[in-house]
Amino acid sequence: MKLTVLVDNNTYIDRYYYGEPAVSFYIEDGEEKLLFDVGYSDVFIKNAELLGIDLAEVTSIVLSHGHDDHTRGLSFFLEQFNASDMRLLAHPDALKEKQLDGLAIGSPLSEAELAGKIQLQLLRTPYKITERLFFLGEIPETNLFEKRTGLGTQKGEGGELPDLLFDDTALAYKTENGLFIITGCSHSGICNIIEYAKMVCNETRILGVLGGFHLFDASPRLTETIRYFEQNKINNLYPCHCVNFAAKAEIHKKIPLTEVGVGLELNF
Ligand SMILES: [Zn+2]
Ligand SMILES: [Zn+2]
Repeated sequence: MKLTVLVDNNTYIDRYYYGEPAVSFYIEDGEEKLLFDVGYSDVFIKNAELLGIDLAEVTSIVLSHGHDDHTRGLSFFLEQFNASDMRLLAHPDALKEKQLDGLAIGSPLSEAELAGKIQLQLLRTPYKITERLFFLGEIPETNLFEKRTGLGTQKGEGGELPDLLFDDTALAYKTENGLFIITGCSHSGICNIIEYAKMVCNETRILGVLGGFHLFDASPRLTETIRYFEQNKINNLYPCHCVNFAAKAEIHKKIPLTEVGVGLELNF
């Protein structure tokens, strides 16, 4: 499996790619060519061009969750590429209308608007994308220090209700040396995600984690999370997007981190 960071908040010095506060990773595993999130604008398309990645070859788009910093690129993608044979894999709530303080913060296109343009595969349950790559589906709460707090509201059959972000999920890749976890924002709790990945993939060893961990500043939650990383001997951490400097600095005291930026390439 080969993973390339197409969009992140951070860019590296002397490497001239575009950055934005959003997420998009490109993953190749055998025949599968997958986009995990599509960022906030068309930046992921521009960066893919600069990196020599042909997005017309994409087989699947997987959404970590519905927030627009992970989904808004869909509009730009569908304007430029014929996606009728591609698959869009996500939790069903990822395409629901989401609002915060009167502003729309969800997917730019609804389920109805996407139907016909791309093959929708909306799942709450885990799904094996390739022999080694798993979509985790809805993440259960297993850690007491990671309660779902939610953000804004979501429109569903029951009307407009607080959004607890049950759509927030992740990918897990089974390597010879344990699982490599790939997250969007980890609204479901980074440790909840890792615990569930262990169960879904039937593997207790964790090789590493890349993505947003949703950690900001020193807090009891951050302390518990660092303890969890240590207990699970997770030595390859690539926090990005929604992990601020203070949180990274705290983790780095215990576990040396790798800086993530656009163009970062990982091979397993
Ligand atoms: Zn989010
Ligand atoms: Zn985000």
